[in-house]
Amino acid sequence: MKKIAILGSTGSIGTQTLEIVRDNSDLQVVALAAGSNVELMEKQVREFKPRLVSLQSEAACKDLADRLKDMQVTIVPGMDGLIQIAEMEESDILVTAIVGMIGIRPTIAAIKKGKDIALANKETLVTAGHIIMPLAAQMGVSILPVDSEHSAIFQSMQGEKKEQVSKLLITASGGPFRGRTREQLADIRVEDALKHPNWSMGSKITIDSATMMNKGLEVIEARWLFDVPLEKIQVVVHPQSILHSAVEYMDSSVIGQMGNPDM
Ligand code: NDP
Repeated sequence: MKKIAILGSTGSIGTQTLEIVRDNSDLQVVALAAGSNVELMEKQVREFKPRLVSLQSEAACKDLADRLKDMQVTIVPGMDGLIQIAEMEESDILVTAIVGMIGIRPTIAAIKKGKDIALANKETLVTAGHIIMPLAAQMGVSILPVDSEHSAIFQSMQGEKKEQVSKLLITASGGPFRGRTREQLADIRVEDALKHPNWSMGSKITIDSATMMNKGLEVIEARWLFDVPLEKIQVVVHPQSILHSAVEYMDSSVIGQMGNPDM
C-alpha cells in the first residue's frame, strides 16, 4: 500500500490524481490540501478519508470543519497545514499539484523528511531548482515528473546512459493562437486564451500555454530535472500533441513517448 499526500487536490492535476487513486486499491490518500474550494474538499474528504487536511484561510478551514463534524479529520490552515502535510510520518509520496511558488517550502520540507515527490508544480523547480535538486540528491529522494513532457523524457531515458544524451526534444502544441499575425492578436481576450485546443488544465497554465510562456518554464524545469544544459534542450512545435516529448542520443536515435491528447 502506497500512502500519498496531495497538495492542490481540488485542481486539474489534483482531481486527476484522485481518479488514479480511485482506480488503484494499492494507493491510499493520507492528506489533502487546497486553496478555497470548500465544497469540493468536503466531497474529497468524505470519499478518501484523509487524516490531515488544509485549506488556505482560517475561515475556509472553519467552514470545512463545520461541514465535517461527523468525521475524524484534522484541519490546519495555510502554510502550517501545507508543511504538516509535507512532513507527515505516514506518507510515502507527496504530489505537488499546487500552483505557484507557494509550493517551494512544502516541497523542501517533504524532501528533508525523505519523501519522494511527484512534481507537477513547475514554478517550484523554475524558481528553486538550484535548491531542490541538490537537496533531493543529498536525501536520496526521487523527484518524479508529472508534467507530460517531462514524464515523456523521464520515460525515454529509462535504461539509457545520461552521458549518451545529445538533446532533449520538448514538444509544444503552439496553443490557440499559433500562426496568427500581430494584427490578428490585437483583439484577443482572456476567454480566447483560456480555450486550449488540445488540453484541459488549470487557468494559469492555460494562459501560460497561450502565450508560450509555459514552454519557457518547461525548458527551465527540464534543465533542473535532467541536469542537462539549456543549449541541449530544443522546443519542437507539434500541434497534434501526439508525441509528448523525446530524447535524441549520440548515435542519432530518438526515443519518444506518445499518447492521445486528452480533449
Ligand atoms: P489548478 O488551478 O487547476 O489547481 C491549483 C490547485 O492549487 C487547486 O487545488 C487550488 O485550490 C490550489 N491552490 C492554489 N493556491 C493555493 C494556496 N495558496 N494554498 C493551497 N492551495 C492552493 O492548477 P493545475 O492543476 O492546472 O496546475 C497545478 C500545477 O501543475 C501548476 O504548477 C501547473 O503549472 C502544473 N501543471 C499542470 C498541468 C495540467 O494539465 N493541469 C500539466 C503540467 C503541469 P482551490 O482551487 O481550492 O483554490
